[in-house]
Amino acid sequence: RAFHDHPSLTKLLIVCTVSGGGVVAYADANGNGAPAPPEIRKKKVVVLGTGWAGTSFLKKLNNPEYEVQVISPRNYFAFTPLLPSVTCGTVEARSIVEPIRSIVSKKSVDISYWEAECFKIDAESKKVYCRPNGQNTNSNGKQEFVVDYDYLVIAMGARPNTFNTPGVEENCKFLKEVEDAQEIRRSVIDSFERASLPNLSKEEKERILHFVVVGGGPTGVEFAAELHDFVNEDLVRLYPMVREFVKITLLEAADHILNMFDKRITNFAEEKFKRDGIDVKLGSMVVKVSDKEISTKVRGNGEIKSIPYGMIVWSTGIGTHPVIRDFMKQIGQANRRALATDEWLRVEGCNNVYALGDCATINQRKVMEDISAIFKKADKDNSGTLTIKEFQEVIDDILERYPQVEIYLKNKKMSNIVDLLKEAKGDVAKESIELNIEEFKKALSEVDTQMKNLPATAQVASQQGVYLANCFNRMEEAEQNPEGPIRFRGEGRHRFRPFRYRHLGQFAPLGGEQTAAQLPGDWVSIGHSTQWLWYSVYASKLVSWRTRVLVISDWTRRFVFGRDSSRI
Ligand code: FAD
Repeated sequence: RAFHDHPSLTKLLIVCTVSGGGVVAYADANGNGAPAPPEIRKKKVVVLGTGWAGTSFLKKLNNPEYEVQVISPRNYFAFTPLLPSVTCGTVEARSIVEPIRSIVSKKSVDISYWEAECFKIDAESKKVYCRPNGQNTNSNGKQEFVVDYDYLVIAMGARPNTFNTPGVEENCKFLKEVEDAQEIRRSVIDSFERASLPNLSKEEKERILHFVVVGGGPTGVEFAAELHDFVNEDLVRLYPMVREFVKITLLEAADHILNMFDKRITNFAEEKFKRDGIDVKLGSMVVKVSDKEISTKVRGNGEIKSIPYGMIVWSTGIGTHPVIRDFMKQIGQANRRALATDEWLRVEGCNNVYALGDCATINQRKVMEDISAIFKKADKDNSGTLTIKEFQEVIDDILERYPQVEIYLKNKKMSNIVDLLKEAKGDVAKESIELNIEEFKKALSEVDTQMKNLPATAQVASQQGVYLANCFNRMEEAEQNPEGPIRFRGEGRHRFRPFRYRHLGQFAPLGGEQTAAQLPGDWVSIGHSTQWLWYSVYASKLVSWRTRVLVISDWTRRFVFGRDSSRI
């Protein structure tokens, strides 16, 4: 009214936004004026999580037609491959994190961030229910809020898997988050201080300085190696009086550590640990943990052994977040470890919901159904016999829809199928081939298992984030000009090509400035030079120049002054 009465403001632009509709009207001071063309409402994208998958999605998204809301209890991205280095102060915690607001502030897309955790997903009404960090439902729901979406991207990662082993939650440390790494660092130094106190028995000193690592995967192995270096390069100088009591034990339930790596790497790691005095106990399954003892069952004779310990780091793989578990029940995916998606990362059983990273797994059941259907279609007379030409078409059809099948066919395990394909494609002398579809399906189910088991790694998560952002960036464009394979059930083609994982190799740092690397093409490299490759690759992969400079200066500081052993 004040504006209306002001003589100089004879004409006014009034912009009124109607919630939900986003209607904009232009009028002069008298209220006359033509309605503006209706503004197209931006599609709401909600992203849950700021880890590898969520952050790579946000970094790559550049279509301003979306309004993005990011929800995560962590207001930063953490470079997890360097977490083991944080446990011993080789690298400082703040050097490996980047605020998510700083990452998204550079974007031209409308992105807002809420520091909160999602505690319920309702795919039916397209809503996610959230509460601020550290709040629980007892707060009368006042702090809680609901966010609605057009598209939901679930990138909530996973949580440590304890296999419901009694006493693990209460007595073990995990290595999943930055806070975990900081806690481990404090705890290691604390153990040395406690063991140095007067009037402790020898047994008590030995117990306090017995560090147990459960799980011989890359994280457990890297942590054991880091700890060994920290103890031998820095702590024994400062605590010479307890040096003789220190022991590191690595427990692994399987026959070898680093199972997923080439045999040469596994052998090298086991031998190096033996030389370093790290006690690797293979075939040892943890059955119970009390506040001072860890009990293991030895494979073979089933003997139960109890070992006194001072600190345990539990690193045995990943399990499902309760929110995801509830959501899976809701959409009929109970009894799975992770959310099943199709090859386009769309969650099965609901619309416009995508899942990527550690909380998701690509479900190949549909692929198998398609492949069998392709065969059935080709085998018109149901005889189990196809002509060469028909078989060729079938193979082309499969490979066009599922190009990644070819990658798996190349795997040695699949040689029976490869041979079959070669035979079918190459033998022009025969007019038709005997094809036992059941046999073929059985063989393909091996392919299926291989394809399902994408490793839960940062590499997979970040590639999926980039893939999905590219799909979102070209949603309209690809609607007009689909680039994906032919839809088997419906008409036309898929909008996008399916997600394809490109494995770039894997490192296993083994301590003492030695690293093992398994690179594509089964190329294996182990030793000091590989450690320098590790330094360069990780420095280049860090998310910003700030973190890159910080990490490199941390490495330099460590070389010059050693690691800091203050317990802060
Ligand atoms: P995460 O990176 O775990 O991110 C999950 C996000 O979801 C986080 O931001 C979290 O705060 C958020 N979140 C959790 N709960 C909620 C909720 N209720 N609501 C909203 N948001 C939520 N991989 C490699 O490839 N190479 C390595 O060298 C390597 N080293 C590793 C070392 C360690 C110690 C660890 C723990 C992992 C390592 N990994 C490595 C594995 C890699 O870190 C994971 O595979 C990767 O982080 C998975 O990415 P993600 O985005 O799915 O999950």
